Parts: sequence; C-alpha cells; structure tokens
Amino acid sequence: MDTDTFRRLGYELVDWIANYRERLETLPVMSQVAPGDIRALMPKEPPQHGAGLDGICGAIDSVVLPGITHWNHPGFFAYFPSNTDLSSVLADLLTAGLGAQGMSWQTSPATTEIEEVVMDWLRQMLGLSTSFTGVIHDTASTATFCALLCARELASDFSQNTGGLQSEAAPLTVYASDQAHSSIPKAALLAGFGRENLRLLPTDNKHALSMDILEAAIAADVQEGKKPCALVAAIGTTATTALDPLKAMAALAARYGMWLHVDAALAGTAMVCPEYRWMWEGVESADSIVMNPHKWMGAGFDLTAYFVKDPQHLIRVMGTNPSYLRTARDAEVNNFRDWGIPLGRRFRSLKLWFLLQEYGVEGIQARVRRDISMASWLAAQADTAPNWRRMAPAPLQTVCLQSVPPHLEGDEFALAAHNQAIVDAINASGQHYLTTSVLKDQKIIRVSIGAQATDLRRVEKLWEALQTCAIKTPGC
Ligand code: PLP
Repeated sequence: MDTDTFRRLGYELVDWIANYRERLETLPVMSQVAPGDIRALMPKEPPQHGAGLDGICGAIDSVVLPGITHWNHPGFFAYFPSNTDLSSVLADLLTAGLGAQGMSWQTSPATTEIEEVVMDWLRQMLGLSTSFTGVIHDTASTATFCALLCARELASDFSQNTGGLQSEAAPLTVYASDQAHSSIPKAALLAGFGRENLRLLPTDNKHALSMDILEAAIAADVQEGKKPCALVAAIGTTATTALDPLKAMAALAARYGMWLHVDAALAGTAMVCPEYRWMWEGVESADSIVMNPHKWMGAGFDLTAYFVKDPQHLIRVMGTNPSYLRTARDAEVNNFRDWGIPLGRRFRSLKLWFLLQEYGVEGIQARVRRDISMASWLAAQADTAPNWRRMAPAPLQTVCLQSVPPHLEGDEFALAAHNQAIVDAINASGQHYLTTSVLKDQKIIRVSIGAQATDLRRVEKLWEALQTCAIKTPGC
C-alpha cells in the first residue's frame, strides 16, 4: 500500500472508529449472530487479484460488526471488563506504524527503555517497593506459566539443565484455591507438575482460600515425601473477586520455602488507590505478581504486567543466548526476550504510556472509585430487595446475585434454570451483557462493573431489567 492510500484510508478508518465509539450504545452489546453467520458472509476462496481496500468501512459494517460483542459498551457487565481506551487505539496504530520488534535492546532501544520506565511508573502506582521489577507480557496466563516455571526451577535446583522434572526424587507440589482462575491449573499442568501434584483446595464461606485446609494439605504432602513448591494467591478471584489471605499465605510460603505467586489480574488495578491496598496485604513477600492493565485499567488488550523480585532468576529460566542474537551491548542493557517466553515482542508499552499520559494516576483512581461505588450501590439494592440474594462479598466491582422466587427456594436445579433464563433474556435484549458462574453448586449471576462508559444510570437500568426479567421468566 502506498502512503497516499494509507493516509486516505487511515483517516477514513479513524473516523469509522470514532463514530463506532459514539454510537456504541445503539448497538446490541452481545453479538446476536448464530455460529457460521459471519463465515457465510465471506468468500470461500482467497481473492486472486488485489482489488485494494477501498470500501473497507462498508465491509466492516456488514461483515465484522454483526459478529462483534462490544466490550466497551456501557451495558457490558460480563466476565471482567476489558477496556480499550482510545489512547490505546492510537498507541496500537503507532506500534504497527513503527513495525518495531523489541526482542533485544538493540533491535529498537525505545521499546526496551519506554517499557522499563512505564513499568516502574506502574510499580509506583501500585504502591510496590523497589524490590520488584516489572516486565510486560501478553496475558496473565503466560505470566503465571512463567511464574510456575521459575518456581519449578528454583525448587529443583535447575533441573532443566539436567534430567528435568523427570529426574526429581520428590514430586513438587503446587497449591491454590478451587476458585483460582483456570490459567493456574493450566500453567501447573503445562509446567509438568502433573495433576496428582496440584492441589486446588476448597474455599471458606467468603470463597477465599482457607489457611487450615492449606496447612493440612501441605503437611500431608510433606508426610508423603512430596516437596511443596509453589503457592498461588488469588487477589480477586474470577467468579466473585474473593481475596485469599495473602499475609498468612506468605508466612507459610516462607516456612516451606515455596514460591509465592500473586494473581491480581483484575484487582491489581484497584491497588492504584491506597485505600484498597489492604486487599493484598503481604504482597511485598511475593516472588511474582501478575496484574492486567488490559482489564479494568484501560490499556487495550493485550498488556499484562508481570512483577518479579529476582529478575536474574527469571532470566536464568527463560534466557537463551544463540550467537545470532548476541550484541555488543548485552552486558549493559535489558534484553526483554529473556524475560518471558516469546522471542519477538510487540511495542506494548506505548499503550500504557499513552493511557497514563492521557489520564494520570488521578484519572485511573477516579474511575476505580466510581466503579467500586457503583458496585456497592448495586450490592445494597440486592441486599434489601425481596427474592434476591447476594452470593458473595463484593469488595471490588463484581456483584454476585441470585434471584430466589419463594416457590423455587431450595430447588437448586429450578433456581439454576431460572437464573440462567434471566441472563439469557437480558443478553437477548441487546441492552446489557451478563455472564453466570457456578459457586459451590449454586448458579450465580455475575454483574461485573467496569466498562469505562458505564455510569450509575446504566447500573440502575440493569437492576430494573434484572428485576423485571426475574418476574417474567417462565415458571415464575
Ligand atoms: N487471573 C484471573 C483472576 C482472571 O480473572 C483472568 C481472566 O479473566 C486471568 C487470570 C487470565 O487472564 P489473561 O486473559 O490475561 O490470561
């Protein structure tokens, strides 16, 4: 593509994006297409002759848009938020425009040094001490995988240099609660610990890890000749944003010499506000922490912040040093290719830089406080409404609810069907998007607040819709 065409189509596309964001509210938040609908709109064979991209905005409207679930819509209350502030759209455009590859310092020094600076800004924003150093990964799943690889290598005295886990005399064990995100068991299995050595422990009545159960599980494993290796604390579980007892877990990790990894994928953003930092009290004892600016904070997907105490250990586990990658500056600089799994690295730090430049720390704090106060409002409504039950504490921005019509009380199957029907009706309306989960065998409706465009009026509208649907749902 020549630069004149790029300029013309680029302006058109920027206009399209701006208009899209302005009319988001008029679109159904959850895509209403059926499987195969979008595929059917595309030719089966690739174009033989290049025809140019003129008319691309029309194709976006007709082919792409119907199949988009609008994560930046004010009625988005599903999963966890994944805000892409428009500053990230510009940053991603620049990333692509520069086309720089940041695998080593020398391959584009700005990619490394801007990342170093913004990760240090983020460390300060989260109230973490200088004993942590940050690096950007694509997702929390990858960062957690790296954490467990580092834990494995520490506990096995670098078995990767000899026979690997297969040569370990004592099996290494990993502990987390059964509310830990699926990326934790996935990482443990991929890191070779084996399902038999992974303990996903039952939680307490707040859905957080129970210290008694954890201590008993570790003691039993030690008794059997196993070696406790890694402990993962969830600060803000996915189903309910439960908070594991990090401080007590840290003491236990120290006692057994275990690696302590903190998964604060969503909740990390709230730590920008000093008044919420009690939620991860003990975090300074962690060996590694993951949080996702690509969730609530507003940096567009994908951008995960991974903080470690000992970057040299990370480099020892991840580093490779083939002759074709060596440079004269290696001794003086960070080569971030050695701080994670992929060799090639996108210029992701631009998104964080642009976001922080646009809003400042105070802007992010204000949004976190707004969202938590909207969640408190909703929690208070549910607490006093007849026939509604709140299913978990709501320390952050997610409120877990169940509609309980009196005649369904005690009938778990009927309640599950009733609550699913409410969510299905809400999602079909196109006004709001919600997801469910199962918590100790109970179907719950999760209301996860945090899209940038959501305001209290929206939350009030959703609460009205929930109550109306609960009455109208068949069988009630
Ligand atoms: N940890 C928690 C608590 C999560 O809620 C999620 C995703 O929602 C993840 C980890 C995985 O995040 P990612 O998509 O960045 O791998």
